[in-house]
Amino acid sequence: MEEPMEGIEETSISGKLKKILKEILRMEISNGRHTKAVFKPKRSDIIRKKEKYLDSLARLITKEEGESEEEESKEARDICVAVCQVEVDGKKKLLIANNLEEPKGPKEFLPLLQKFANAEVENQSKVFTRLFELSVNNSFAIIQRTSGENRWKNTGSIKGKKINELKKEIISYSRRVKNKSLIDKQKKESLEKIFKWSLDSSEEMKRENISDSSNWELLVPIDDLNIIINAIKDRSLGQELIEIIKIGDFKYIMGKKDEHAEMKIVNWLLEKGQKGKYYIGISKLTCSPCWAVIENINKDESKGLLLNARGTHGATYGENWEIPANIEEYGESLIDVFESKLPHEKPKESTSEVQITGVTQSDLFTAKELAGQTYASTSAARK
Ligand SMILES: [Zn+2]
Repeated sequence: MEEPMEGIEETSISGKLKKILKEILRMEISNGRHTKAVFKPKRSDIIRKKEKYLDSLARLITKEEGESEEEESKEARDICVAVCQVEVDGKKKLLIANNLEEPKGPKEFLPLLQKFANAEVENQSKVFTRLFELSVNNSFAIIQRTSGENRWKNTGSIKGKKINELKKEIISYSRRVKNKSLIDKQKKESLEKIFKWSLDSSEEMKRENISDSSNWELLVPIDDLNIIINAIKDRSLGQELIEIIKIGDFKYIMGKKDEHAEMKIVNWLLEKGQKGKYYIGISKLTCSPCWAVIENINKDESKGLLLNARGTHGATYGENWEIPANIEEYGESLIDVFESKLPHEKPKESTSEVQITGVTQSDLFTAKELAGQTYASTSAARK
């Protein structure tokens, strides 16, 4: 039996891409941290308000953490979520995807949003409380994720005092919910505190014009909930999207792990032969391979698609980028794009562009001949 060859040439598009992306990731990591992006980060210039709502919605319905350790290991959370409003056979739908096999948070949040949109005013607060609990879970996950990075340093100033109180309350509430040591009344009181303090903190942040947002990240899930709920109530979310939510026309896209959320949406649009302009709402800025795919499709007139999203952070995730089936035709061009960013082997200069075989005995002049040659060429030049 033949031994497999060492360093065998990777031939599949997906394999070649993974190999290049792995090398690019290595370039992006410095001091053990992934802080660099090989591609220039970009933001889309024109995003309409309706499109910004899609970004808020995508972020809101992202489940940041599984309820238990066992769930965590089963990947009971979303790393990123993407949403897109489409019309198929005259029917409007909301496409939803994440980068795992199936969306998690969206399946908890969206039915509740549907309930909220359909509820009589007097029943809305009960549904809102359930949604608020999910958002607080996400805040808690963000606190846990960021506290390890020592980003909660108390500056000693009045700034951030409210946010620290809020943080403590969210931690205490979440731990007691996990231990099941909260009676309903305590749970209600704690949630009311968190709600009030998060509004106060938002106010403080605006008033003090705090631009360093890392200490305030935990407010984002609660903020997004308020944005979406208010936009449903005052109908600024848009008639079409509100109708989709009320009817519950949600299309959860399944797929492979590591096919990124926005790529699952693009793959679906290509599969159905959809044409026209689409804005993809994303919970996080896209990575550079996803952005490169979007740019490629926009250049390909045969597809009749014009895609947009809010921007890219320009970085890659190495091998953790799977190319969905309908996107594979752009694989070669992606390989070119990424290959051009790799450092290349610097070629050694040969002594002569003409003669690459090297100096041989028969070609050598004697010193005298050489002097004559030099003299001859100099005198020839004088003529
Ligand atoms: Zn991506």
